[in-house]
Amino acid sequence: MNVQEECQILAEALSDKFPTGWPVFIHWHEELTCYHEGERIPIYADCTRIKKGIRIRMSRKKCRQKRVAFETLIHEYAHAMEWKGRRWEHHPANLDGERDHTPAFWAQYGELYEWFFHQGGRQTLEIGQ
Ligand SMILES: [Zn+2]
Repeated sequence: MNVQEECQILAEALSDKFPTGWPVFIHWHEELTCYHEGERIPIYADCTRIKKGIRIRMSRKKCRQKRVAFETLIHEYAHAMEWKGRRWEHHPANLDGERDHTPAFWAQYGELYEWFFHQGGRQTLEIGQ
């Protein structure tokens, strides 16, 4: 399976095990950028509340390696979980703004990361082998 197929499996498993309350859609783009201090810079991914759920956009260019793609998806998914009940947010994943990466965010990220990499999540899903 390719990296996109395996990320889809991961996203579905996350949705089952750690529901956000909304459907989560993964969209792949060749390249993603965001504006930061007047410059366009490449990013790995971002996560946005849209009308019908949550959209996670992933950069094919930045997330070619499965390990990188899994960590990026888990990172974005942790944002999606934090936004439970809030109406709309947008987050450029590589800026590491303090507003978006609170201790509560890292605790959530850590829980997902532990499940996937250390508590058998990856083996159960048979991805990233
Ligand atoms: Zn982030």
